[in-house]
Amino acid sequence: MKTKLHRKRMLCAICGGQLRKTVITHEEKRGGKLYLFRKVPAKVCGACGEIWIAGETLAEISRLIREGEPVRKIETPVYDFVPASAR
Ligand SMILES: [Zn+2]
Repeated sequence: MKTKLHRKRMLCAICGGQLRKTVITHEEKRGGKLYLFRKVPAKVCGACGEIWIAGETLAEISRLIREGEPVRKIETPVYDFVPASAR
């Protein structure tokens, strides 16, 4: 039972690699806007690099977008990429 729980929690659902707990900066796009969240608890797969965020953490991110007060706002440079052949 303990092993089962451990496996469910700490193995990547895509590749079966080992997950490690970490904190990340998460980018969330909503309605054409980009929101940044720092210090978000997540698990990262050591094999394929996939990032896993718990459902309750995503729910809190949605709540912060609706009701939270950002610590600061930043300007984001936007570019149109031009292929080398068109430059
Ligand atoms: Zn993986």
